[in-house]
Parts: sequence; structure tokens; C-alpha cells
Amino acid sequence: MSKREAGEEMLVRKIEQGTVIDHIPDWKAETVAKVLRLDKLARMQADVSVAILQNVKSQSLGRKDIVKIDRWQVDERDADILSLVFPGISVNYVNEWKVSKYQARVPDVIEGRIRCPEVSCISNAEREPVVTKFITLKRERLLQCHYCDTLLGFDAVPDHVSG
Ligand SMILES: [Zn+2]
Repeated sequence: MSKREAGEEMLVRKIEQGTVIDHIPDWKAETVAKVLRLDKLARMQADVSVAILQNVKSQSLGRKDIVKIDRWQVDERDADILSLVFPGISVNYVNEWKVSKYQARVPDVIEGRIRCPEVSCISNAEREPVVTKFITLKRERLLQCHYCDTLLGFDAVPDHVSG
């Protein structure tokens, strides 16, 4: 074990089962928690615990944040949404101490999970709302609402995740 790994080990033990999200830009762990709705998860799943490490030394980033979620596998679609906001992020699933890296990808279409910022959009109707649907414009780093064409920047996604 290298000195660096030993340092991380001192901060938090390894997990047997769950998800480790690594290479989060420094001080952005809260945004990751918001996108994954970890507060809601913790309320619904009593045995899930979350460790947030901030300002950890990193060879590639200088400093980084890490989020460890014990006993919960983050949904791949949520991991993909996370990669919109943080393209350099690593999502690792841990199963019986074995770590496997999930290759997050920017999806072509995102259904549900993100609210349309346009109040008058049909997806925001109180009566019989439809499931939101966004087309990803990858080069522009924008999402476009399938129903009303409203644009939402990838960076604004954390403010529009549905609860
Ligand atoms: Zn819309």
C-alpha cells in the first residue's frame, strides 16, 4: 500500500458493498449528494451510510472530493447524469470488497429525474403531468426539453433534479 493510499485509509475504512465516487472536483461533494438525492436515500434506507471526504490530496487533480456510499449501488442512469456535470468523475461499484469501475457515459436522451426549468412546460403541469424528456446536445453541453425546447446547461442540472 502506498503512502497516499494509507492516508486515505486513515480517513475512512474500505467498504464491503456499495459505491465509491472518486475524482470529484474539490468541494463539490455536496453537489454530487444533491444529484444523487442522498438525503432522500438515507431517509428511505436506514442501513445506508454516506461518508464524504473533502480536500483529499490527488495526483491528477491536486485536491479532490470522494463520496462513499455504504450498502447502496448508485443507479447507472444517475451515474450517467453525474458525468454530465462532472466529466472526470469515477464511479466504482464495490461488491464483496471487489471494486469494479462503471464507465459512465453521457446519454442521448434523459427521461425523468430532471425537471424542466420552464414553468409552463407540459411536464410541469399539475394535472396529468408527463414524464420529462431531454435531448442532450453534447458539444454545447446543453439539455433540450423534448416538449418545449427550453435549454438547460449541464452545469445547472444539480438545481433541477427532481425530488
Ligand atoms: Zn419543457
